[in-house]
Amino acid sequence: MPQISKRLSFLDCSPLISKVSDQLQSWQNRRHLSYAGRIQLIKSVIMGIQIYWTSNYILPIKVLEKIDKMCSAFLWGNKIHLVSWSEVCKDKEHGGLSLFNARYWNYSAGIKLLWMIHTKKDLLWIKWVHENYLQNQSIWQIQPRKNDSWMWRQLLKVRDLVISRFGSMGNIQGVLDSCLKDGNIQISSIYKAISYSSATVNWSKSVWGGLHYPKHSLIMWLAILSRLLTKDRLYRMKILEANQNQCVLCTGSANRPESKNHLFFECQYSASVWNDMMEWLGFTWRSCDWNCVMNWFNNNLKGLGFMKKVKRMVLSATIYWIWKERNSRIFQQKCRSSDQLVREVKISVLMKVLQEKVPDHLRERINRL
Ligand SMILES: [Zn+2]
Repeated sequence: MPQISKRLSFLDCSPLISKVSDQLQSWQNRRHLSYAGRIQLIKSVIMGIQIYWTSNYILPIKVLEKIDKMCSAFLWGNKIHLVSWSEVCKDKEHGGLSLFNARYWNYSAGIKLLWMIHTKKDLLWIKWVHENYLQNQSIWQIQPRKNDSWMWRQLLKVRDLVISRFGSMGNIQGVLDSCLKDGNIQISSIYKAISYSSATVNWSKSVWGGLHYPKHSLIMWLAILSRLLTKDRLYRMKILEANQNQCVLCTGSANRPESKNHLFFECQYSASVWNDMMEWLGFTWRSCDWNCVMNWFNNNLKGLGFMKKVKRMVLSATIYWIWKERNSRIFQQKCRSSDQLVREVKISVLMKVLQEKVPDHLRERINRL
C-alpha cells in the first residue's frame, strides 16, 4: 500500500481526477438539480471515490485542491460560490453542510496510517515499515533520510503537521484515543478532531433538526449566513444599479430596498404570511424582526419534541416559500397573494407531518391544523 517508492505526480492521479470530473459532468448535464440534490450526490459518490483513494495513498496537495475545486463548482453550478468550500466542509454544528474537504480528509487518512504504525497493527506492510524504516525508533521521532521513498516522506510531513497542530505527544495520544471506536480508528473522527476549531453555532437545530425538507433547510442556511443573492448584495457587487434594488413583494408605490431583513419578515407581504403562520401554530408571541425571530427559535424551540420540530419546519418552510415567491416574481413574472403563499406553506408542512408518526397526545392538535 504506501510502499510506492517514486513520487506520485499530478499525472499519476489523472484517472482519479477524470473519474470525478466525468461523474460530475454527467450529473450536471442530466437535469436541473437542487442544491440539496447536489449535496447528496457529492456526498455519495465523490466521497466514495475520495475515501477509497485517500485511505490508501497520500495524494499530492495539488490533486486534492483540484478535487475540492471541482466539488465546489458542482455544488454552486459554476456560478457565484455562495459559501466558500472550507465553510461548506465544516459540520452542521459548526455552521457548514458536513461535506468533506479532500485535503483534510487525506491528511486524516495519513494520521490513521501513523497511528497504525505507532500501535504496530498486525499487518504485513507495517511489519515491513518497522523493519526497514523505523528499526526500533519511534514514528514520532524518526528523521527523514535521503533515500526514503516519496510516500514515506509524505507520511513524515503529515506527522510534522500533527505535531505542530497538537504540540505534545500526550495531546496527540488524547486526540487519537478520542477517535477510537471498537479498537479501530475512524478517519471521519480524526477529520473532525483536526478540522473544527471554531465555536459551534446556536442555529444548527433550527436549520437541520426536525422534519425539514432538505431544500428548505438549505435556503434557510444561506439566509442565516446572509449569502442569498438579495438585491442589496447584488447592488454591492455592482451587478444591479441603485434604482433596481426594490423589493418585489411590497405593493403600492413605496417599494423598499430588498435586504435579507426586509424580505424576511419586515416586508408587509412577508409579515402578513409570517403572522398567519404564527397564528396557525398558536403562538401569542409575535415578531417580524429577523434577529428576534431567529433568537426566539434558537433559544426556545431547540428540543426534540414533535411540536417543536413542526414549529421549526414552519419557519424553514416560510423562509423557503417567501424566497421562492420573490424569485418567481422576478424571473417568471408570476405573483401569488400572501393568502395563497400561506396555503403553500401549510400544504408543504402538512404533507410532511402526515407522513410522520404523530404522538397520540398531539393528534387532536395536528388534526386541527
Ligand atoms: Zn418588501
